[in-house]
Amino acid sequence: MPKQRTFSIIKPDATARSITGKINSKFEEQGLRVVAQKRLRMSRLQAREFYIIHKDRPFYEELVEYMVSGPVVVQVLEGENAVAKNREIMGATDPAKADAGTIRREFGENIERNSVHGSDSPENAEAEIRFFFSGTEIVG
Ligand code: ADP
Ligand code: MG
Repeated sequence: MPKQRTFSIIKPDATARSITGKINSKFEEQGLRVVAQKRLRMSRLQAREFYIIHKDRPFYEELVEYMVSGPVVVQVLEGENAVAKNREIMGATDPAKADAGTIRREFGENIERNSVHGSDSPENAEAEIRFFFSGTEIVG
């Protein structure tokens, strides 16, 4: 199977607790390479645009405020079947419902502060990577 890329965010609850290394270990131990990453503070405009598909959900405003509340680490992960693989490594949205050993089960605080974002399709992965990275920032 050819290599695929996906987009990942280590969210503010995780940067606040200095567990970005532990989260990256989960990716690397399970076959996803971190081929680009940078730590940044999202602007409110960026967060609103990034999560625009959720604009009508009741948690949208709160989600935007949370995502700008501290630094995040945006990443490009690469590997076989990377989009689905990353969703598996992350676990379910609600940490209480996530499988044992997943990032969200081990580190997530609640359904909102769930430590990581991961693209849900190859098409969205491409768009989300382009949202945060230029081609020269992805070194493989
Ligand atoms: P996922 O991140 O697993 O793809 P969604 O796309 O449904 O989940 O939601 C995006 C993000 O919005 C979640 O990761 C979480 O931070 C937040 N979120 C989702 N559902 C809720 C909820 N019921 N209450 C508060 N925040 C939520
Ligand atoms: Mg989603």
